[in-house]
Amino acid sequence: MRDLWIDLGAISQNLETMRAKVSGAKVMVVVKANAYGHGMLPVATHLDDAVDFFGVADIDEALELRAAGIESPILAWLHDPNETFEAAVDADIDLGIATVEQLNRVAEAAKTCRQKARVHLKVDTGLGRNGASLADWPQLVTSARAYAELGLIDTVAVFSHLSSTSEQDDLEQIQRFDHAVSEAKDLGLEFYLRHLTASDGSLNYPQAHYDMVRLGVAIYGLSPFSDHGSAEYGLVPAMTATSVVVQTKRVAAGHGVSYGYLHRTSAETTLALVPVGYAEGLPRDASIWAEVAVNGKRYRISSRIAMDQFVIDVGDDEVKPGDQVVLFGPNAEVGPSVDELARAGDTINYEVVTRMGGRFKRRYLNQKAKD
Ligand SMILES: *Cc1c(COP(=O)(O)O)cnc(C)c1O
Repeated sequence: MRDLWIDLGAISQNLETMRAKVSGAKVMVVVKANAYGHGMLPVATHLDDAVDFFGVADIDEALELRAAGIESPILAWLHDPNETFEAAVDADIDLGIATVEQLNRVAEAAKTCRQKARVHLKVDTGLGRNGASLADWPQLVTSARAYAELGLIDTVAVFSHLSSTSEQDDLEQIQRFDHAVSEAKDLGLEFYLRHLTASDGSLNYPQAHYDMVRLGVAIYGLSPFSDHGSAEYGLVPAMTATSVVVQTKRVAAGHGVSYGYLHRTSAETTLALVPVGYAEGLPRDASIWAEVAVNGKRYRISSRIAMDQFVIDVGDDEVKPGDQVVLFGPNAEVGPSVDELARAGDTINYEVVTRMGGRFKRRYLNQKAKD
């Protein structure tokens, strides 16, 4: 009675749409956080032949991909301070590395596993998250070069991440990135790959595609910008969330609805109960504002969204148990968009899809036939 429909065909199509925009750069598809709620293993399995790289935050996510038979290169970049890197090196996971201390442990792991570790050095060009500061960058490069000469690591790539604060801030980061790359070259270290932009930077700065782009939200068919919809970029939202009406009842005028009575009926009316709540990832802050579609018509969730359920006031419309309820879908004919729900909940489309889960069942459409 609660389904997340994931259109794998749309995901493939979005990948091709984005490939055409990035001027021949390789594409890393970011599948962290359960592929932004779309299901990491089905998405990665579907795209394994079509990507150049997969990207995840944690090594555990990367190991899960390998255990499921994913063969594409996988980069993981956010590490436990006690990480030994042995399992990662053993499973041929590329490692985003930000400090000499991490690099030392990676080199130890390479010795133990008798296998070269594949390393992407991360430089902080201004975001202020992970990555070596510009001051620490030469030292990180120097020790990477030394380990490379010892045959313990392959320096696969240099990378960084934009803050997307303003065009000026991003352009400054792009300059600092160029500088960091040439500084590394002066110190005797060259990389196969340079990668900087995520979905937003890849759409905004063609000059910054370098050798690879890292795409998350655009692959799932959503716009990285709150002031531009995905259709402007030819992207198709891949997730549709549906449920069903489980109960209806006629009530008199003046009936309070759900916790806190944010809504009281203004006339005799029909209330319809839908079994989706904040446990499923529906933002509680979207109470009052969010709309859903039932039988092609929009209704406000005018009362408080609870843990397991919400109520809509459908007036005198013929709505009955079993009628499908669309929380969001790929276009206005189907129902509200993820972007509309995000605005209603005072959040962003990334957060809405990523948190969708709870008791929803994911169902996959347009899955490739197994060969
Ligand atoms: C999540 C993430 C991405 C993907 O970002 P999108 O905006 O979803 O394209 C790229 N790079 C890094 C380092 C990330 O953490």
